[in-house]
Amino acid sequence: MENPIVKVEHLYHRYTTQWAIEDISFEIDGSGVVGLLGSNGAGKSTTMNIICGVLKQTQGKVFINGIDTLKHPVAARKYIGFLPQKPPLYPDLTVDEYLRFCAEIHWMDRKKIKTAIGEAEERCGITHMKDRLLRNLSGGYQQRVGIAQAILHDPKFVVLDEPTNGLDPNQILEVRQLIRDIAEERTVMLSTHILSEVQATCSTIKMIEHGRVVFSGSVDEFDSYIEPNTLYATFDLPPLPDELMAMPGIRRAESVGSHGVRLTYDGDRDTIKLIIRESVARGWEMTEIKVEKSSMEAVFAKLSGK
Ligand code: ADP
Repeated sequence: MENPIVKVEHLYHRYTTQWAIEDISFEIDGSGVVGLLGSNGAGKSTTMNIICGVLKQTQGKVFINGIDTLKHPVAARKYIGFLPQKPPLYPDLTVDEYLRFCAEIHWMDRKKIKTAIGEAEERCGITHMKDRLLRNLSGGYQQRVGIAQAILHDPKFVVLDEPTNGLDPNQILEVRQLIRDIAEERTVMLSTHILSEVQATCSTIKMIEHGRVVFSGSVDEFDSYIEPNTLYATFDLPPLPDELMAMPGIRRAESVGSHGVRLTYDGDRDTIKLIIRESVARGWEMTEIKVEKSSMEAVFAKLSGK
Protein backbone atom coordinates (compact mmCIF):
# COMPACT_ATOMS: atom_id res chain seq x y z
CA MET A 1 0.00 0.00 0.00
CA GLU A 2 1.23 3.52 -0.75
CA ASN A 3 2.16 5.80 2.11
CA PRO A 4 0.16 8.97 2.67
CA ILE A 5 2.11 12.05 1.66
CA VAL A 6 2.05 13.34 5.25
CA LYS A 7 1.47 11.54 8.50
CA VAL A 8 1.76 13.40 11.79
CA GLU A 9 1.72 11.35 14.98
CA HIS A 10 1.18 12.79 18.45
CA LEU A 11 3.16 15.93 17.79
CA TYR A 12 4.04 18.16 20.75
CA HIS A 13 6.16 21.29 20.87
CA ARG A 14 7.28 23.50 23.71
CA TYR A 15 9.34 26.67 23.09
CA THR A 16 9.59 27.64 26.74
CA THR A 17 7.42 26.23 29.49
CA GLN A 18 4.04 26.19 27.73
CA TRP A 19 3.03 23.73 25.03
CA ALA A 20 2.65 25.55 21.70
CA ILE A 21 1.07 22.42 20.20
CA GLU A 22 -0.21 19.33 21.99
CA ASP A 23 -0.94 15.89 20.62
CA ILE A 24 -1.49 16.83 16.99
CA SER A 25 -2.13 13.83 14.73
CA PHE A 26 -3.38 13.67 11.17
CA GLU A 27 -2.83 12.19 7.73
CA ILE A 28 -3.08 13.94 4.39
CA ASP A 29 -3.20 12.36 0.99
CA GLY A 30 -4.36 13.07 -2.54
CA SER A 31 -4.27 16.32 -4.46
CA GLY A 32 -6.12 19.47 -3.43
CA VAL A 33 -5.76 22.23 -0.89
CA VAL A 34 -5.87 21.50 2.82
CA GLY A 35 -6.47 24.54 4.99
CA LEU A 36 -4.89 24.78 8.41
CA LEU A 37 -7.18 27.28 10.07
CA GLY A 38 -6.76 28.90 13.47
CA SER A 39 -6.49 32.22 15.28
CA ASN A 40 -3.15 33.94 15.72
CA GLY A 41 -1.02 31.95 18.15
CA ALA A 42 -3.06 28.75 17.65
CA GLY A 43 0.01 26.74 16.61
CA LYS A 44 -0.20 26.72 12.80
CA SER A 45 3.33 27.94 12.05
CA THR A 46 4.80 25.67 14.70
CA THR A 47 3.08 22.66 13.10
CA MET A 48 4.14 23.65 9.57
CA ASN A 49 7.73 24.39 10.58
CA ILE A 50 8.01 20.96 12.19
CA ILE A 51 6.46 19.19 9.18
CA CYS A 52 8.92 20.97 6.89
CA GLY A 53 11.87 20.15 9.10
CA VAL A 54 12.89 23.70 10.03
CA LEU A 55 11.94 23.21 13.69
CA LYS A 56 12.57 20.09 15.74
CA GLN A 57 9.58 18.83 17.69
CA THR A 58 9.73 18.21 21.42
CA GLN A 59 7.84 14.95 20.94
CA GLY A 60 6.04 12.97 18.24
CA LYS A 61 6.75 11.90 14.68
CA VAL A 62 6.29 13.21 11.15
CA PHE A 63 6.45 10.96 8.11
CA ILE A 64 6.67 12.42 4.61
CA ASN A 65 5.83 9.79 2.01
CA GLY A 66 6.62 7.23 4.70
CA ILE A 67 10.02 8.76 5.54
CA ASP A 68 10.66 9.66 9.19
CA THR A 69 11.73 13.33 9.11
CA LEU A 70 13.95 12.98 12.19
CA LYS A 71 15.81 9.93 10.89
CA HIS A 72 16.12 10.97 7.23
CA PRO A 73 15.59 14.74 7.05
CA VAL A 74 17.30 15.26 3.67
CA ALA A 75 15.37 12.44 1.97
CA ALA A 76 12.06 13.70 3.42
CA ARG A 77 12.70 17.28 2.31
CA LYS A 78 12.88 16.24 -1.35
CA TYR A 79 9.12 15.75 -1.27
CA ILE A 80 8.38 19.11 0.35
CA GLY A 81 8.20 22.66 -0.96
CA PHE A 82 7.86 25.31 1.73
CA LEU A 83 6.94 28.96 1.70
CA PRO A 84 7.41 30.24 5.26
CA GLN A 85 5.37 33.14 6.59
CA LYS A 86 8.20 35.55 5.83
CA PRO A 87 9.42 34.52 2.36
CA PRO A 88 13.18 34.01 2.35
CA LEU A 89 13.82 36.38 -0.55
CA TYR A 90 17.15 38.08 -1.25
CA PRO A 91 16.29 41.58 -2.50
CA ASP A 92 19.51 42.09 -4.46
CA LEU A 93 19.06 39.01 -6.64
CA THR A 94 16.99 38.88 -9.80
CA VAL A 95 14.12 36.35 -9.97
CA ASP A 96 16.27 34.04 -12.14
CA GLU A 97 19.31 34.31 -9.87
CA TYR A 98 17.23 33.68 -6.79
CA LEU A 99 15.52 30.59 -8.24
CA ARG A 100 18.90 29.22 -9.37
CA PHE A 101 20.18 29.67 -5.82
CA CYS A 102 17.10 27.81 -4.49
CA ALA A 103 17.62 24.98 -7.00
CA GLU A 104 21.19 24.61 -5.79
CA ILE A 105 20.25 24.41 -2.11
CA HIS A 106 17.69 21.73 -3.05
CA TRP A 107 20.59 19.75 -4.61
CA MET A 108 18.77 19.64 -7.92
CA ASP A 109 20.37 17.92 -10.87
CA ARG A 110 22.38 20.72 -12.62
CA LYS A 111 21.21 19.65 -16.05
CA LYS A 112 17.57 20.07 -15.05
CA ILE A 113 17.83 23.44 -13.29
CA LYS A 114 17.30 25.73 -16.28
CA THR A 115 14.17 23.93 -17.48
CA ALA A 116 12.79 23.70 -13.93
CA ILE A 117 13.24 27.45 -13.40
CA GLY A 118 11.53 28.22 -16.69
CA GLU A 119 8.60 25.95 -15.84
CA ALA A 120 8.17 27.31 -12.31
CA GLU A 121 8.31 30.90 -13.62
CA GLU A 122 5.72 30.13 -16.25
CA ARG A 123 3.45 28.34 -13.77
CA CYS A 124 3.59 31.30 -11.40
CA GLY A 125 3.18 33.96 -14.12
CA ILE A 126 6.56 35.62 -13.48
CA THR A 127 8.43 34.85 -16.72
CA HIS A 128 8.30 38.52 -17.76
CA MET A 129 9.86 39.48 -14.41
CA LYS A 130 12.76 37.05 -14.52
CA ASP A 131 15.49 39.69 -14.87
CA ARG A 132 14.06 42.06 -12.27
CA LEU A 133 15.58 42.52 -8.83
CA LEU A 134 13.35 41.04 -6.12
CA ARG A 135 13.40 44.36 -4.27
CA ASN A 136 11.61 46.01 -7.20
CA LEU A 137 8.68 43.55 -7.31
CA SER A 138 5.26 44.25 -5.78
CA GLY A 139 4.13 42.19 -2.78
CA GLY A 140 1.96 40.03 -5.04
CA TYR A 141 4.84 39.23 -7.40
CA GLN A 142 7.21 38.57 -4.50
CA GLN A 143 4.70 36.05 -3.18
CA ARG A 144 4.57 34.40 -6.62
CA VAL A 145 8.36 34.10 -6.55
CA GLY A 146 8.02 32.55 -3.08
CA ILE A 147 5.57 30.01 -4.49
CA ALA A 148 7.86 29.39 -7.49
CA GLN A 149 10.76 28.45 -5.18
CA ALA A 150 8.41 26.11 -3.30
CA ILE A 151 7.44 24.16 -6.47
CA LEU A 152 10.82 24.38 -8.23
CA HIS A 153 11.97 20.83 -7.42
CA ASP A 154 8.48 19.48 -8.25
CA PRO A 155 7.64 18.33 -4.71
CA LYS A 156 4.55 16.20 -4.03
CA PHE A 157 3.67 18.30 -1.00
CA VAL A 158 3.69 22.11 -0.83
CA VAL A 159 3.30 24.00 2.43
CA LEU A 160 2.37 27.69 2.36
CA ASP A 161 2.28 29.61 5.63
CA GLU A 162 -0.30 32.44 5.39
CA PRO A 163 0.33 32.90 1.63
CA THR A 164 -2.07 35.82 1.14
CA ASN A 165 -1.11 37.76 4.23
CA GLY A 166 -0.35 41.41 3.45
CA LEU A 167 -1.56 41.30 -0.16
CA ASP A 168 -4.17 43.67 -1.60
CA PRO A 169 -7.58 42.25 -2.66
CA ASN A 170 -6.64 41.76 -6.33
CA GLN A 171 -3.35 40.11 -5.47
CA ILE A 172 -5.20 37.82 -3.04
CA LEU A 173 -7.53 36.60 -5.79
CA GLU A 174 -4.59 35.97 -8.15
CA VAL A 175 -2.51 34.12 -5.57
CA ARG A 176 -5.54 32.00 -4.55
CA GLN A 177 -6.06 31.00 -8.18
CA LEU A 178 -2.38 30.12 -8.50
CA ILE A 179 -2.61 27.97 -5.36
CA ARG A 180 -5.65 26.11 -6.72
CA ASP A 181 -3.79 25.55 -10.00
CA ILE A 182 -0.68 24.09 -8.42
CA ALA A 183 -2.87 21.87 -6.20
CA GLU A 184 -4.28 20.10 -9.25
CA GLU A 185 -1.30 17.78 -9.38
CA ARG A 186 -0.05 17.81 -5.78
CA THR A 187 -1.09 18.27 -2.18
CA VAL A 188 -0.99 21.85 -0.91
CA MET A 189 -1.37 22.78 2.73
CA LEU A 190 -1.89 26.43 3.57
CA SER A 191 -2.43 28.16 6.86
CA THR A 192 -4.70 31.09 7.47
CA HIS A 193 -6.46 32.90 10.29
CA ILE A 194 -9.17 34.10 7.92
CA LEU A 195 -12.36 32.06 7.70
CA SER A 196 -13.29 33.18 4.21
CA GLU A 197 -9.86 32.16 2.93
CA VAL A 198 -10.40 28.47 3.65
CA GLN A 199 -13.86 28.62 2.15
CA ALA A 200 -12.49 30.25 -1.02
CA THR A 201 -9.45 28.06 -1.55
CA CYS A 202 -9.53 24.77 0.37
CA SER A 203 -11.22 21.42 -0.13
CA THR A 204 -10.56 20.13 3.38
CA ILE A 205 -9.93 21.89 6.67
CA LYS A 206 -8.05 21.23 9.85
CA MET A 207 -8.76 23.77 12.51
CA ILE A 208 -6.24 24.26 15.30
CA GLU A 209 -6.96 26.15 18.49
CA HIS A 210 -4.74 26.36 21.58
CA GLY A 211 -2.32 23.92 19.99
CA ARG A 212 -4.88 21.16 19.36
CA VAL A 213 -6.85 19.99 16.33
CA VAL A 214 -10.48 20.88 17.04
CA PHE A 215 -11.92 20.08 13.60
CA SER A 216 -10.91 17.95 10.67
CA GLY A 217 -13.17 17.41 7.68
CA SER A 218 -14.53 18.79 4.42
CA VAL A 219 -15.42 22.42 3.79
CA ASP A 220 -19.09 21.36 3.60
CA GLU A 221 -18.94 19.74 7.04
CA PHE A 222 -17.22 22.83 8.39
CA ASP A 223 -19.96 25.06 6.98
CA SER A 224 -22.45 23.56 9.41
CA TYR A 225 -20.52 25.22 12.24
CA ILE A 226 -20.72 28.62 10.65
CA GLU A 227 -23.61 30.79 11.78
CA PRO A 228 -26.06 31.50 9.00
CA ASN A 229 -25.58 34.82 7.29
CA THR A 230 -26.61 37.79 9.35
CA LEU A 231 -27.44 41.34 8.39
CA TYR A 232 -27.42 44.38 10.59
CA ALA A 233 -29.57 47.35 9.56
CA THR A 234 -30.54 50.63 11.15
CA PHE A 235 -33.66 52.68 10.40
CA ASP A 236 -34.96 56.06 11.58
CA LEU A 237 -38.44 54.47 11.80
CA PRO A 238 -37.58 50.78 12.31
CA PRO A 239 -40.12 48.09 11.35
CA LEU A 240 -41.27 45.49 13.87
CA PRO A 241 -39.25 42.24 13.71
CA ASP A 242 -42.48 40.45 12.71
CA GLU A 243 -42.85 42.65 9.61
CA LEU A 244 -39.36 41.63 8.48
CA MET A 245 -39.90 37.98 9.33
CA ALA A 246 -42.89 37.96 6.96
CA MET A 247 -40.54 38.69 4.04
CA PRO A 248 -39.15 35.79 1.94
CA GLY A 249 -35.54 34.83 2.70
CA ILE A 250 -35.57 36.15 6.28
CA ARG A 251 -35.35 33.51 8.96
CA ARG A 252 -35.02 35.55 12.14
CA ALA A 253 -35.21 39.20 13.15
CA GLU A 254 -34.57 40.94 16.45
CA SER A 255 -34.44 44.58 17.49
CA VAL A 256 -31.11 45.99 18.63
CA GLY A 257 -31.47 49.25 20.60
CA SER A 258 -34.02 51.77 19.36
CA HIS A 259 -32.98 51.88 15.68
CA GLY A 260 -31.14 48.65 14.87
CA VAL A 261 -32.35 45.26 13.64
CA ARG A 262 -30.29 42.09 13.31
CA LEU A 263 -31.52 39.59 10.72
CA THR A 264 -30.63 36.03 9.87
CA TYR A 265 -31.19 35.57 6.15
CA ASP A 266 -30.65 33.00 3.41
CA GLY A 267 -27.46 34.65 2.15
CA ASP A 268 -29.09 35.67 -1.13
CA ARG A 269 -28.32 39.17 -2.44
CA ASP A 270 -31.92 39.45 -3.66
CA THR A 271 -33.06 39.39 -0.03
CA ILE A 272 -30.88 42.43 0.73
CA LYS A 273 -32.29 44.26 -2.31
CA LEU A 274 -35.83 43.39 -1.18
CA ILE A 275 -35.23 44.85 2.30
CA ILE A 276 -33.93 48.08 0.75
CA ARG A 277 -36.95 48.33 -1.59
CA GLU A 278 -39.42 47.61 1.23
CA SER A 279 -37.74 50.22 3.42
CA VAL A 280 -38.35 52.85 0.74
CA ALA A 281 -41.90 51.67 -0.03
CA ARG A 282 -42.98 51.55 3.60
CA GLY A 283 -41.08 54.62 4.84
CA TRP A 284 -38.76 52.88 7.36
CA GLU A 285 -35.97 55.34 6.45
CA MET A 286 -33.03 52.93 6.35
CA THR A 287 -29.71 54.55 7.28
CA GLU A 288 -27.38 51.54 7.16
CA ILE A 289 -27.29 47.87 6.14
CA LYS A 290 -24.32 45.50 6.33
CA VAL A 291 -23.57 41.80 6.11
CA GLU A 292 -21.99 40.43 9.27
CA LYS A 293 -19.44 37.70 8.79
CA SER A 294 -19.27 34.81 11.19
CA SER A 295 -16.15 35.11 13.34
CA MET A 296 -13.63 32.39 14.00
CA GLU A 297 -14.35 32.79 17.72
CA ALA A 298 -18.02 31.97 17.05
CA VAL A 299 -17.09 28.82 15.12
CA PHE A 300 -14.63 27.76 17.78
CA ALA A 301 -17.24 28.30 20.53
CA LYS A 302 -19.68 26.13 18.56
CA LEU A 303 -17.07 23.41 17.99
CA SER A 304 -16.07 23.45 21.66
CA GLY A 305 -19.69 23.11 22.74
CA LYS A 306 -20.11 20.06 20.50
P1 ADP B 1 0.12 30.60 14.63
O1 ADP B 1 0.99 30.26 13.49
O2 ADP B 1 -1.15 29.80 14.65
O3 ADP B 1 -0.15 32.06 14.77
P2 ADP B 1 2.40 29.83 16.25
O4 ADP B 1 2.70 28.43 15.89
O5 ADP B 1 3.24 30.90 15.65
O6 ADP B 1 0.86 30.13 15.98
O7 ADP B 1 2.49 30.00 17.82
C1 ADP B 1 1.94 29.07 18.75
C2 ADP B 1 2.33 29.51 20.16
O8 ADP B 1 3.74 29.40 20.34
C3 ADP B 1 1.98 30.94 20.48
O9 ADP B 1 1.57 31.00 21.82
C4 ADP B 1 3.27 31.68 20.28
O10 ADP B 1 3.34 32.81 21.11
C5 ADP B 1 4.30 30.64 20.71
N1 ADP B 1 5.57 30.81 19.97
C6 ADP B 1 5.73 30.79 18.63
N2 ADP B 1 7.04 30.93 18.30
C7 ADP B 1 7.72 31.04 19.46
C8 ADP B 1 9.11 31.21 19.80
N3 ADP B 1 10.06 31.26 18.84
N4 ADP B 1 9.43 31.27 21.11
C9 ADP B 1 8.49 31.20 22.07
N5 ADP B 1 7.17 31.03 21.83
C10 ADP B 1 6.77 30.96 20.56
